[in-house]
Amino acid sequence: MPIYEYLCDQCETRFEKIVINKQQEIACPKCASKKASIQLSVFATANGGGNGASAKSSAPSGGGGSCCGGGCGCH
Ligand SMILES: [Zn+2]
Repeated sequence: MPIYEYLCDQCETRFEKIVINKQQEIACPKCASKKASIQLSVFATANGGGNGASAKSSAPSGGGGSCCGGGCGCH
């Protein structure tokens, strides 16, 4: 689950939110301002990389025979 870090433009409070839909409105927990800018945190980076890697590695086993395009003769 992606966790994003936000920095409130109004009171400069940092807070984290689990974002399911990137279009969803986020409000600062302190001043309730909806003007918060997203911070590229370690969470977001690690999560994106992990998602990509797991999606890639799960594709061959679930893909059924398209692991290498048939060029390696492994099947
Ligand atoms: Zn705020």
